[in-house]
Amino acid sequence: MLPGVVGVMMATEAIKLIIGIGRPLIGRLVLYDALRMQFRELKVNRDESCPICGDNPEITELIDDYVRWYDEYWEEEIDVAAD
Ligand SMILES: [Zn+2]
Repeated sequence: MLPGVVGVMMATEAIKLIIGIGRPLIGRLVLYDALRMQFRELKVNRDESCPICGDNPEITELIDDYVRWYDEYWEEEIDVAAD
C-alpha cells in the first residue's frame, strides 16, 4: 500500500506540472508516516552548489549511465574533501 500512496502523490505532482495547475511541491518536502497515517510538510531551501539546480549547474541533460556518473561524482567530492 505504501508504494501506491507515494506513487499516486508523485504522479499527481507530475500531472500538475505538465498542465500547469495547482501548487506544485517545489521547495517543500512532504513526509508520509504510514504507521500513524500522518503527513508533515517541511520547507526545503535551494542548495546553490547543487550540480543540477545550483548557481553553476554541471548537469544539464539526462545521464545515460547513472551508476557510473554517481560513482565518478562522489569520487570527485571525496577527493575535494581530502584536500
Ligand atoms: Zn538541486
